Amino acid sequence: LRREGFSSVPDITWDDVGGLDSLRKEFDRYIIRCIKHPEDYEVFGLDMQAGFLLFGPPGCGKTLIAKAVAHEAGANFIHIKGPELLNKYVGESESEVRKIFIRAQTNTPCILFFDEVDALTTKRGKEGGWVVERLLNQLLIELDGAGQRKGVYVIGATNRIDVIDEAALRPGRFGKKQYVPLPGADERFSILRAHTRNKPISSSVDLGALARREECNNLTGADLASLVNEAAMAALEERLDFMENGDSSMSSSSLIELSHFERALAKVHPSVSI
Ligand code: ATP
Repeated sequence: LRREGFSSVPDITWDDVGGLDSLRKEFDRYIIRCIKHPEDYEVFGLDMQAGFLLFGPPGCGKTLIAKAVAHEAGANFIHIKGPELLNKYVGESESEVRKIFIRAQTNTPCILFFDEVDALTTKRGKEGGWVVERLLNQLLIELDGAGQRKGVYVIGATNRIDVIDEAALRPGRFGKKQYVPLPGADERFSILRAHTRNKPISSSVDLGALARREECNNLTGADLASLVNEAAMAALEERLDFMENGDSSMSSSSLIELSHFERALAKVHPSVSI
């Protein structure tokens, strides 16, 4: 059973993530290899406790890559949702922040992922008022306690880096800022490959050509995931219709064909406005 904030090693792997190659390299250097070879990093006197901040449009893989990092490192993953932390524990959010870091420390190696971290780090004196201000102060204290939290790696994610207090973006806190962009054509291809990996795709479907279609411009990773699902659904329905009704105008193929992607393309539209 998975609870909010509960730690476990996720089952998302590198193969599930399309594109984001340079980000993979950064995570590999700063987190994964560091967890796998801690003594070697120590030999070279490298302190790798700086936190990452992933920012960019929704649905482009911030949560996904953070989970994959944990999986590849064999680390526990604690998923904290900013707005929930803020609202669920009214008056107790600060002690909850303390508890989260203690939980991370007792579950090392651990990736501590703060989703929608802008909710917790809004510029002081702005939108949030004193509740957010106290929460932010507590969070900064915990982030600064780097020395005591060996094996805890903090990753934040946000769609709104502009509202985040500068103090939270300093080195050692969420200092390593990484933009997670909308995928380009090559990345769309790689995302489509990731999502069709375990699906019966007809060999006549050219995913590279599909990724370059005009309809795919500006689709996010999440949109591409639903494109593949819609195509799979279209193929399944066709097959079931055939089996139930023996409709001879349809094929009985159990593969996902280009025609199914065509139907999916008519349904799926960019979720992010440019
Ligand atoms: P949000 O800001 O909404 O939290 P996010 O950037 O964290 O967005 P994810 O939750 O990682 O987005 O992505 C949602 C889903 O979209 C993923 O579970 C996955 O199915 C698909 N997806 C997004 N980006 C990618 C990608 N680069 N490769 C493969 N799948 C992706």
